[in-house]
Amino acid sequence: MHIETKCIQSGYEPKSGEPRVLPIYQSTTYKYDSSEDLGALFDLKLDGHMYTRISNPTVAAVEAKLSDLEGGVGALCTSSGQAANFIALTNIAKAGDNFVSLASIYGGTVNLFAVTMKKLGIEVRFVTPDMSDEEIEARFDDRTRALFGETIANPALTVLDIERFAGLAHRKGVPLMVDNTFATPVLCRPFEFGADIVIHSTTKYLDGHAQTVGGVIIDSGNFDWEKGGKYPELTTPDDSYHGVVYTRDFGKAAYITKARVQMMRDLGMTPAPMNAYIMNLGTETLALRMERHSENALKVAQMLKNHPKVSFVSYPMLEGDSEYALAKKYLKGASGVIAFGLKDGRAAATKFMDSLKLAKIVVHVADARTCVLHPASTTHRQLTDEQLRDAGVLPELVRLSVGIENVEDIIDDVAQALANA
Ligand SMILES: *Cc1c(COP(=O)(O)O)cnc(C)c1O
Repeated sequence: MHIETKCIQSGYEPKSGEPRVLPIYQSTTYKYDSSEDLGALFDLKLDGHMYTRISNPTVAAVEAKLSDLEGGVGALCTSSGQAANFIALTNIAKAGDNFVSLASIYGGTVNLFAVTMKKLGIEVRFVTPDMSDEEIEARFDDRTRALFGETIANPALTVLDIERFAGLAHRKGVPLMVDNTFATPVLCRPFEFGADIVIHSTTKYLDGHAQTVGGVIIDSGNFDWEKGGKYPELTTPDDSYHGVVYTRDFGKAAYITKARVQMMRDLGMTPAPMNAYIMNLGTETLALRMERHSENALKVAQMLKNHPKVSFVSYPMLEGDSEYALAKKYLKGASGVIAFGLKDGRAAATKFMDSLKLAKIVVHVADARTCVLHPASTTHRQLTDEQLRDAGVLPELVRLSVGIENVEDIIDDVAQALANA
């Protein structure tokens, strides 16, 4: 089936007489006919729900849909995008290990990688796309466990050359993990270009209405964890489950099964069934929304590009943009997010934001409602000047998240605010 159909139909298939719409299973607990059944569940010999920290029928239906949208073998929903990235990496990296990441990524992820994971003994090594393959490969060693990047980087709006970085990762025997938050599976499916693990902050377009914080990890099932012997936690017995060996017992779903039954069991970064339900309502209209977000944003970007007060506009699908060739190769649209700068610098950027009427100042992107943010003074204020530059964030940069309202109303609002700035 096509992606528009999957957004609506995947993940939940009611039997005769059951609710047509996915129910909210607001239950922590499940009932068993015998203690033997429950014992088999605990040994991972039987499929089923044990406890909502680990799985829940509402959440499971949403996971099945998201996995289907990306073309994976399984998914794990988490309480936030931060939790998804943390579990995705710590599922295969421990103290003493390291991983390589593109520097141009979300500010919260930079903090998670460079501050908190460092304290846990897991080292991040940042690279930039202008480095040669040899320079990037030199950042890997025998303790490197993954390569990480974002399809459309937040907020720099650089586009990941997925085939190039998948090639690099695989030559080094590690998986490529791609945070596909801004593109969504409607605009790009990274597995089709060689990525192994996909992560989303579902808080953004998958929800799409600024209502629930959440995340998801999706496993392509394509990475060979046995080759090279780098992932003993997947290929040797797990004592916390009577000697389960994930690759032997779960095959292509080894990684995502371990993420759930070990990491989620122990860390408890669980989404609420109610939140999964609300997020799923948003996902039903994802294909429609991404088309309109992308169409509207391209028109706003073209208007900004021709405006005398604007110093630069970044929008990957804008002809002449540094990312245009990569965008054409990997994306069906470039989402609603635009970054631009004002010639008169930081003060003019602030005046512009304060003059907007329809677009509201928020700490969010990827909402049906047009909204705006100044990264240097908000989401990225913890970063040093050098980290800001590496993340592609200038002090005068404004991030505009174009919604799905009528584009003429959005353009009128931006024009009057620019006139004021
Ligand atoms: C927002 C965001 C995150 C963090 O997700 P939360 O749901 O806010 O925890 C991670 N990656 C990207 C690209 C994001 O935009």
